[in-house]
Amino acid sequence: MQGFNKYYPPDFFDNVDKHGSLNAYRGKHALGDRARKLDQGILITRFELPFNIWCGTCNNHIGMGVRYNAEKKKIGAYYSTPIFSFRCKCHLCDGWFEIQTDPKNTRYVVVSGARQKDEDWNPEENGGFAVHDTEAAAVPADPLASLEKTTDAQKGLVKAQDRLESLQEASEHYHADPFSLSSKVRKRFREEKKVEKAKKAADDRIKDRYALPESLSLIEDDDKAAEDAKAEWARGRRELELRESNKRRKLAVEITTIPTSSASRRPVTKRPAPTNPIASLRARVLENTARQSNPFGGPPKA
Ligand SMILES: [Zn+2]
Repeated sequence: MQGFNKYYPPDFFDNVDKHGSLNAYRGKHALGDRARKLDQGILITRFELPFNIWCGTCNNHIGMGVRYNAEKKKIGAYYSTPIFSFRCKCHLCDGWFEIQTDPKNTRYVVVSGARQKDEDWNPEENGGFAVHDTEAAAVPADPLASLEKTTDAQKGLVKAQDRLESLQEASEHYHADPFSLSSKVRKRFREEKKVEKAKKAADDRIKDRYALPESLSLIEDDDKAAEDAKAEWARGRRELELRESNKRRKLAVEITTIPTSSASRRPVTKRPAPTNPIASLRARVLENTARQSNPFGGPPKA
């Protein structure tokens, strides 16, 4: 039996260099009875059925999730992943069945002694798209076709090599003399910078002169812009003149019409002077009579 608790028998310390640990002193493995077949590479573990099966011996249905003390054994490897087999004894009869891991497809497979109930999700049955093994389909069955494929691959390789070489040449060409390239670029940059600076100074002067806002961007000052501006100025000038002359003409018409209208309102002032004294006297008498008969009104209407 394994050593439990922290009880060390009195004779343990007599020969402590020999056993080293309590388990070794008892001649037991740390995993106890589960390690009894360790010399065959078998460890006994608790294994839970990952799916429903039918036992091959008694033909009973065994549900998913039933647990067994299975003999776990490494039987191979898929790349670096170990493949384990679990050998279980049916709890309803004396038969044994074996289930293995399948790292390639990330699942378990029943190897012997039982039948797996096929309950895998089938996308095609459920309105989805099937998942096909593309690798297997890509291998041509015809040997000639495979030969053709290798020739194609070789041709492609030659093409790719040419392209790679040309790319390498281009790269070498650009990186052969970094100093001269850099100085060339910097020289051009300096020239451009000078021009930009001069332009900005001119713009600033104009803005200063007319008190324009700093954020206002002025247009490029070249011959075409100057011509456009001149044409625009001339057009504006013409329009202004036209407006002015129209206004003046209108004013003149109003001035000439005003006296005639006032004359028509007061015909008395415009009356022609009498020619002889008798006529003058008669007119005055008539006027006085009219004023007497209608002292509040203006001149008689009739
Ligand atoms: Zn059975």
